[in-house]
Amino acid sequence: MVCPFCNADDTAVVDSRKNVDGDAIRRRRQCSVCNTRFTTYEKSEIELIVKKRNGNLEEFQYEKLFDGVENAFGGQDLSDKQLKNLVESIYLDIKSHGKKIESKIIGETVLSHLKDVNEVAYLRFASVYKEFSQISDFEKEAAEFN
Ligand SMILES: [Zn+2]
Repeated sequence: MVCPFCNADDTAVVDSRKNVDGDAIRRRRQCSVCNTRFTTYEKSEIELIVKKRNGNLEEFQYEKLFDGVENAFGGQDLSDKQLKNLVESIYLDIKSHGKKIESKIIGETVLSHLKDVNEVAYLRFASVYKEFSQISDFEKEAAEFN
């Protein structure tokens, strides 16, 4: 950590403690060149944690959501801007569930948005997400639109 006062590289931690929420570490540092003390905060960048079906936890990846939605449309029927807006509104919906979310809920959230926008995209996403193995599964899903 570079000293903000004299730009020296040589600063030492003199005290560190968790903040009230426990999601950030507050450190008091002292510059060994100019002896000024200053505070830094160390915080994880993870906004959302996904609980997978097998129970594993992983960081939510926006790109994965984006790719999944983009693939569902197969490059058709949607401009880049529409795609971005759609993914963003899905993401906000996902985030409204809290800091930790089950992958199942993510899939269902995407499906509920796609259902409103495009039937084919909905079915395509559903086929990947639900890992359909039989054509009858498609027919069952398609029946929801009739
Ligand atoms: Zn300094």
